[in-house]
Amino acid sequence: MQTYDTIVIGNGLAGAAISYELSKVGQSVLLIDDGRADSGTRYSYGGIGYWAGTTELTEMLFRAGIVRHRELPDELGVDTQLRELDLLLTVAKGEAIAAAKESYCAMRTPPQFVDAKTACEIEPQLNPTAIEGAFTIRHAQVDPMSLVAGYNKAFRQLGGHHNLSAATGIVRVEDTVTGVMTQAQAYAAKKVIVAAGAYSLQLLRAVGVQVPLYFTHAEIIETAPLDFEVRSLIMPATNARTDLESASPEPAEWQKPNHQVMPPVLEAGVIQFQDKTARIGQISRFHTALMPPVEASVGERAIREAIAHPLPNLKDVPGTWRHCLVTFTQDNLPLLGSVPSIKGLHLFSGFTGPFALVPPVAQRYAQHLSESSDEIIEQMTIARFL
Ligand SMILES: Cc1cc2nc3c(=O)[nH]c(=O)nc-3n(C[C@H](O)[C@H](O)[C@H](O)COP(=O)(O)OP(=O)(O)OC[C@H]3O[C@@H](n4cnc5c(N)ncnc54)[C@H](O)[C@@H]3O)c2cc1C
Repeated sequence: MQTYDTIVIGNGLAGAAISYELSKVGQSVLLIDDGRADSGTRYSYGGIGYWAGTTELTEMLFRAGIVRHRELPDELGVDTQLRELDLLLTVAKGEAIAAAKESYCAMRTPPQFVDAKTACEIEPQLNPTAIEGAFTIRHAQVDPMSLVAGYNKAFRQLGGHHNLSAATGIVRVEDTVTGVMTQAQAYAAKKVIVAAGAYSLQLLRAVGVQVPLYFTHAEIIETAPLDFEVRSLIMPATNARTDLESASPEPAEWQKPNHQVMPPVLEAGVIQFQDKTARIGQISRFHTALMPPVEASVGERAIREAIAHPLPNLKDVPGTWRHCLVTFTQDNLPLLGSVPSIKGLHLFSGFTGPFALVPPVAQRYAQHLSESSDEIIEQMTIARFL
């Protein structure tokens, strides 16, 4: 049986990027993915907030992100549908503009406020009577699955192996990882990188490892091609979801089965893709179950009612409710690196703003593992929480 240098579990954005970057530095890599429909990457907006750094570290990484995105179409040989567009962060009628502005103060390049008339000139679909105005900035965006397909194609061209099956367990002998078990067979490797999004928690728990990684349930409506254009990426200017993600649940709360940790947050927003389909979102629920905690019809009705105010033309467009899980950490930095108690077992997950961060961080992480230790990567390892 072949012993791979590395097995990567999970082919969302994180797993696709790290498996490609490791192949590029000469490692033999097996990428295992279960092909589930509800990955965070599959239903993402694909927005690249390269302007949104709040510290020296995140500003440097976000800027490196947009540079890497500009290189990737040629390097991977695919059109990732990278484009620049306006981001509009709407302030609903009656909401305080100052409160929203304060939340952008920490950003090195904060979005600027424009009144309702100007916001509607930027995005004619907006309802001027429903908003005070919007904060706006130039943003970037890719088609999430085109980017993953590009990483996968280039990975295979470098000799990487891609296996469509569920990893059912991590194999170890005493305190050292030796491979991965799937339903069909076992695969041997010197190192295993778990990049399975929220499902990473299950795989790690099964070998007795707990990590400070959390997830929310996200709900959106995925539409059929629209017969009108939405030019911008639109989201509300509230920071309710970031508040939710930086909330610190008591460990006991997070361990409770089927438990709502915080009340849900609904952010009425939309992004349209080049094929004219759109994703209308988004509800985030901080709930410990892995299965959706609500009926599809309940989530869909709530999203349609919320979007009707800022973007009335979207209220009744044909579309389907979708659900997925999105991981995060409490300090908004990813959770990378070797798992302390098991040699050769690594995690690559928990990215906030992954479309900006994953491409440059995956490149650095591959170099960190194959050549020399990288001080930027060291700041994102699991060790920071120990
Ligand atoms: C509505 C919405 C909008 C978003 N907008 C943005 C945005 O504009 N910008 C941004 O940066 N981020 C955005 N995000 C967040 C982002 O899309 C996700 O956080 C990110 O794509 C997660 O990538 P991942 O690879 O870590 O996890 P995932 O995409 O969840 O991938 C995990 C993979 O692991 C596989 N897997 C799981 N268990 C197993 C197993 N046992 N064996 C094998 N494979 C397994 C799954 O099938 C999946 O393919 C958004 C998310 C949502 C839901």
